[in-house]
Amino acid sequence: MHYISTRGHSGRKQFCEVLLEGLAQDGGLYVPESYPRVDRATLDAWRSLPYLSLAWEVLSLYVSDIPPADLKAICEKTYTPAIFGKPDIAPLRKLERGLYLQELSNGPTLAFKDMAMQLLGNLLEYELARRHQELNILGATSGDTGSAAEYAMRGKKGLRVFMLSPRGRMSAFQQAQMFSLQDNNIHNIAIDGVFDDCQDIVKRVSGDLEFKRRYKIGAVNSINWARLLAQVVYYFSGYLQASEREPAGVSFTVPSGNFGNICAGHVARMMGLPICRLVVATNENDVLDEFLRTGVYRVRSRADTLETSSPSMDISKASNLERFVFDLVGRDAARTKALFDGQLGERGGFDLSGDPRFAEAAASFGFRSGRSSHADRLAMIRDTWERYHTVIDPHTADGVTVARAHTSPREAMIVLETALPIKFAATIKEALGREPDLPDRFKGLEELPRRVKVLPPDAQAVKNYIAEIATS
Ligand SMILES: *Cc1c(COP(=O)(O)O)cnc(C)c1O
Repeated sequence: MHYISTRGHSGRKQFCEVLLEGLAQDGGLYVPESYPRVDRATLDAWRSLPYLSLAWEVLSLYVSDIPPADLKAICEKTYTPAIFGKPDIAPLRKLERGLYLQELSNGPTLAFKDMAMQLLGNLLEYELARRHQELNILGATSGDTGSAAEYAMRGKKGLRVFMLSPRGRMSAFQQAQMFSLQDNNIHNIAIDGVFDDCQDIVKRVSGDLEFKRRYKIGAVNSINWARLLAQVVYYFSGYLQASEREPAGVSFTVPSGNFGNICAGHVARMMGLPICRLVVATNENDVLDEFLRTGVYRVRSRADTLETSSPSMDISKASNLERFVFDLVGRDAARTKALFDGQLGERGGFDLSGDPRFAEAAASFGFRSGRSSHADRLAMIRDTWERYHTVIDPHTADGVTVARAHTSPREAMIVLETALPIKFAATIKEALGREPDLPDRFKGLEELPRRVKVLPPDAQAVKNYIAEIATS
């Protein structure tokens, strides 16, 4: 299996090259040269597999430069009950006939990002050791990505993490989770500023190519193909569990901002997994809902990007959308490049509404979409509690709200759970009048000693700090 760039100018790459590179050199995203097909007989044979074996089967179709036994060992090390909190790794929870939650947030940081990031940590450690290389991961977080990356990379040989976050702006739980890590390869940097300042600094530091090369700076953001591939596995798992109970058909509703989580569903469907519909749920920042309904992709400015109570979906543009659009335009790299290249933001986006293929293709790929508001979110958190005695987090609530508008009789609708409610306690309190329960293993977390460096919003200060640690 080889990988190509959506913009057509980065040659054919192997999996491990794509793992380390992240973004392709031509600015595009890596995609498999073609999607391997999984037929009905194979799918049936996978029905009885535990999650780690299912992961190994799916990954094997895409990874040809890691020996099978090594890849299996990596899957065995990753998807364990000790790391994911339960004997089953991505179980379905029935809410009512035809409506399910798929639990994806039982990992170390209580958000679905652990499902992919834990695998990425083990893949990176393996590949860096094989190449005798080191990597300094630099990232910016508003909460979920940073903690998932740190818990996946802590203690890993050859890896350091430098994670920027806006000082005092993450939830109390998120701050405690990240800053209490004592591993000496994990470096929390609190920036006196907002999330955008953090992101700007990361861009500026990574844009200094001499610095980047000298200090082996890398990223683990959501455009990394390996993260997407890890997420493909739980669509297979969810489908196999649900199709036993509701044989008429299975659909998914996925809360999404960057089009990462839902893009993995698209890949699964392209591989032949018989998903009826893939429903995208957005919050008030409805870039994706607008695009899927109208064909108009309108990138929002900073001022037009709202701060909502499902903050992990507060995005101005959807960094993974390019992969889907590449398929939508018939894998035409020149066309994709013309749509996404250069100053997409300054051009304001693009418009495919006049393209006769848009409506047809959007339908044949099974996509639907909807949006949810703060009031919907609170109402759905209350409703889910009252009907099923289940507390859901605000992002999952966006999913359930949109899912309810897209169910059909005798079909299973699976809503992907994106986080546990304790990560967003303030909104739960607003909805239910009380804070969600803290799982036992997190009791006392907020009292632990903290390790965090406070720096001004200045790229040079961050560079000096990295240089000091990376050479000591
Ligand atoms: C990251 C995240 C999302 C959005 O995921 P995408 O990859 O942008 O689709 C939604 N909810 C939570 C809780 C998240 O952490």
